Amino acid sequence: MVTSVLLAEPRGFCAGVEMAIKALTWMVQIHEPPVYCYHEIVHNGAVVAAFEDAGVVFVDDIGEVPAGRPVMLSAHGSAPEVAEAAEAGAAVMVDAVCPLVTKVHHEVRRMATKGYDIIYVGHEGHDEAIGAMAEAPTAAQLVDPRVGLGTFAAGAGAKVALLAQTTLGLYEWEDVLSDAQERFPDLWTARKSDLCYATTNRQTAIQELAARSDVLLVVGSENSSNTKALVRVGTNAGVPTYRVDSAADIAREWLEDVGTVGVTAGASASEHAVQKVIDRIAPTEGVDEMRVTSEDEYFPLPPNLRRFMAALQPLVEGGFVCRNPGSPGPIEHDRDFTATEALAILGV
Ligand code: SF4
Repeated sequence: MVTSVLLAEPRGFCAGVEMAIKALTWMVQIHEPPVYCYHEIVHNGAVVAAFEDAGVVFVDDIGEVPAGRPVMLSAHGSAPEVAEAAEAGAAVMVDAVCPLVTKVHHEVRRMATKGYDIIYVGHEGHDEAIGAMAEAPTAAQLVDPRVGLGTFAAGAGAKVALLAQTTLGLYEWEDVLSDAQERFPDLWTARKSDLCYATTNRQTAIQELAARSDVLLVVGSENSSNTKALVRVGTNAGVPTYRVDSAADIAREWLEDVGTVGVTAGASASEHAVQKVIDRIAPTEGVDEMRVTSEDEYFPLPPNLRRFMAALQPLVEGGFVCRNPGSPGPIEHDRDFTATEALAILGV
């Protein structure tokens, strides 16, 4: 029996994930299936399954997309050659990369052009790291924070820049930063690091949640970097911390004789999943929210999707284009339309 739930705010979907989910929802509304998507649109198994049911085919090789089909590129950012191949072969290509990932791609290109050797701190094999590194494959070296700077070698007399994946744990970034500053006194790095607002806000929130909770539950998928970082922050704070994809993953013994359960969610986990987790916990004295900051970031849909939708708008309003009667509202109301509502159209 659990006495109470303390719910972190902010939690769950960030502005980049909101934008990407809404964009792909529009793609499946507008186009006949299959619509192709390069990489999982966001790292969330339930969201990916819902889009598969709606006719989306996810591929890890852009060469698998048949010519002439509509294609979307995921929120994590893609290598330039992937974007070029998609653009060349697709009927419609929409890049749903988060603008904060695009900013890091620009930094990688800019620092490489200026002749810097680049330390890119990221997780080996992660979609975002692969895309960013591909902007300057000869200048950038991946440093996995779990391994540290040991593998990095700068050229003789080289200037060194330090960039990072947006979803790292602060503890991972700070360790590499201090080592790099010691080794390279003239190190260049982004003024506030590349970790995005959603990553840092959710980590700050779970830190405070940990001080007031007996157990922590983090809703999010196994392949979500920022989710795993939240689990690590909770664990480092000395509180038993568990990651769950859904309410079904909660083990009874985790919650035996527990007073307060802190609940949060990674940036690609839906509020729907969070509410199911709370229902499963069923606290006897209810739910309190613990807000550490407010977020009002909003990223508009990708420009070419907006242009396409604007051109279709009269037909959409006339009901001639969208395949689903519960389709999203007019493009100019996109800010008021949430990814949660988009997923509800898909039955999530
Ligand atoms: Fe963008 Fe940050 Fe969300 Fe990644 S976690 S999609 S960088 S806002």
